[in-house]
Amino acid sequence: MIREIVKFGAPVLRQKCEEVTKFDKNLGRILDDMYETMRDADGVGLAAPQIGLPARLIVIDVDRRIEIVNPVIVSMWGKQFEPEGCLSWPGKRGIVKRPKHVRVKGLDRYGKPVKFRAKDLLARAFCHEIDHLNGILFEDKVLEWVEDEPEDQEGE
Ligand SMILES: [Zn+2]
Repeated sequence: MIREIVKFGAPVLRQKCEEVTKFDKNLGRILDDMYETMRDADGVGLAAPQIGLPARLIVIDVDRRIEIVNPVIVSMWGKQFEPEGCLSWPGKRGIVKRPKHVRVKGLDRYGKPVKFRAKDLLARAFCHEIDHLNGILFEDKVLEWVEDEPEDQEGE
């Protein structure tokens, strides 16, 4: 089910989200809804607070479907400066400094540990979505706002 995406200014986007401890059918449904909502909005990532839920859940679509419960960045190195956007703030994009590589761990929807290595866009997506879980928005980190290029839109 496609959910409504919460926009900048909503208090839930500034909340520190709660760890997820229940791995039931409802969790699977929320993750499926998040994924569907993100795809429908042509995004590359979505965090649970963006559908109004202050829970530590993210989904990402960069080459493949990724979902993580209680994600944590284990290590990061290098740097990149690329334009970033956010599904909670359509049309706004800015250059953000991110690590070029990250390693992330967390749990899958059944509570089983998962690990990811990421670089470039995927590394940015992990950082952007995990920031959301801590109430941090990309506008806090933008070095320079960029003019929108409609053919090169990406929202996270
Ligand atoms: Zn975002």
